[in-house]
Amino acid sequence: MTEKKVPMRKCVACGEMIGKKGALRIVRTPSGEIVLDKTGKMNGRGAYLCRDMNCFTTAKKGRKLERSLKCQISEEIYNKILEEIEKDE
Ligand SMILES: [Zn+2]
Repeated sequence: MTEKKVPMRKCVACGEMIGKKGALRIVRTPSGEIVLDKTGKMNGRGAYLCRDMNCFTTAKKGRKLERSLKCQISEEIYNKILEEIEKDE
């Protein structure tokens, strides 16, 4: 019997499980680049964040993404995430 692995989509800010539609995926690619993964299919270590302004603020202030990805997140990436959140509102 094979067990299907369900990827964990837990928001790094609020700690809640998030559905695929409501999640933003930030990926550290194998080459060490941090990207906002809009397709959800990129390879690399991923961190999830609710498409929510409160979670964004919490994540940024608490450096939750940095901790989760063990990498620096540039202001440029934060701006991209912000753009995505604002797009949906
Ligand atoms: Zn959240």
